Amino acid sequence: MITVMKFGGTSVGSPEALRRVAGIVSNTEGERIVVASAMSGVTNFLVSVVESDKIDIESVKEQFANKHLTAAEKLFEGEAMEAFMAEFDGRMAGFEKAVMADRSDPYYKDCVVSQGERFSTLLLAHVLKGMGIDARAMTSEDAGVVAEGHPLNGSANLPKTEAEMGMRVRPLLSMGVLPVITGYYGITPDGRPLTFGRGGSDYAAAVVANAIGADMLEIWTDVDGFMSADPRIVPDAKKIDEMNFGEAAELAYFGAKVLHPRTIEPVRMRHIPLKVRNSFKPEEPGTLIHHLRKPKNDLLRSVAAKTDLSIITISSAEMAYRPAMVAKLIEMVAAADAIIYSISTSLSTVAFLVSSTDVKTTLRQINSIEGYDIEKIDVKSGVALICAVGDNLLDKCGVCGDIFSAVKEADANVEMISEGASEVSLNFVVPMGKVVDVVKILHSKYMS
Ligand code: ASP
Ligand code: MG
Repeated sequence: MITVMKFGGTSVGSPEALRRVAGIVSNTEGERIVVASAMSGVTNFLVSVVESDKIDIESVKEQFANKHLTAAEKLFEGEAMEAFMAEFDGRMAGFEKAVMADRSDPYYKDCVVSQGERFSTLLLAHVLKGMGIDARAMTSEDAGVVAEGHPLNGSANLPKTEAEMGMRVRPLLSMGVLPVITGYYGITPDGRPLTFGRGGSDYAAAVVANAIGADMLEIWTDVDGFMSADPRIVPDAKKIDEMNFGEAAELAYFGAKVLHPRTIEPVRMRHIPLKVRNSFKPEEPGTLIHHLRKPKNDLLRSVAAKTDLSIITISSAEMAYRPAMVAKLIEMVAAADAIIYSISTSLSTVAFLVSSTDVKTTLRQINSIEGYDIEKIDVKSGVALICAVGDNLLDKCGVCGDIFSAVKEADANVEMISEGASEVSLNFVVPMGKVVDVVKILHSKYMS
């Protein structure tokens, strides 16, 4: 039995948290691999460093080192401290080199912002050693996590990662070593660190689980699991015990902030069950995500909302008869690097739902199109996407009608609907000001 255990920033954010997490690891049976995020606050600090105009290396080094050394002082003494410092000094030299490197290098930012994970894993590995566990801090370079893609937006190359980890990590497991691997980034074919986007350590852990063929992936965070709604909106929201991969993927993608949305795919494809657990309440069972397909009487399992979105509607007469124009428009939105949360077409319009922060660049791209007669572009900002999720949701008759009549009770106008694209979710757009009411009504009608 191999368990990959991922710990988030708050779970490794203080000496107490690190000790608690080490206790969780040592209580877990079988072969274990740990993947960790940077200590909370550290990645934000590094992002501010790479984004500043001028870098004062001495002060950056001092702040960064202090953060980890103050934790180390509370955790280690004597020989344990010496052993930690021996590795720490080496990694600090790498840190300085990364920060002082050529800022015009395309991977400069990836290299700097991924530094936090190299230190949190070092701390955790040494805490585990102190408990008599043969733990070894490994960077993604050491472990062979292979990445590809654009700077700050990498994806793992799963077959290559599997081959590399088979050589670098699997033998350690059979020797009884417990690898503690950096989350958040992998290594390009030419050896450069490439991050998986903010919050990407969850995904990195799923990649490790996939590559090693784990029996279980545990994502340890600071909440009890997936909830039936955001507890800040619905105070009596319930924790969800079990759901299937599709439901979790939709919820994570459309607003629930429990998991990085890309975490699901690498484990789903290998049928590796995933648990979301709270490292501050290890006695709680969390949410189990697997290939669940059992009849459930509840219509809905959970409802999430993604806010700060905008609808861009492009009009051109009889556009439906010119599929090349629709294709071109989609291509331009993609060129703006904007995620399309929903798309809807009619005879003479196509509407995209995108993040409000992407509107400007998207419009710039669309306006640069030549050779097509765009008649009008409208932007409706301040909208939110409600994502209602339930296993087999769309097999049940009359579901849409029921849900929309609930929305009507909230006096909300539905601006856009995406139904049928996924069999486990029904997504629709309402004005931001209505989100709280809609979520509350849906929850009270179908989930409490
Ligand atoms: N440390 C990285 C971040 O803050 C990755 C992660 O925590 O998942 O985005
Ligand atoms: Mg996270």
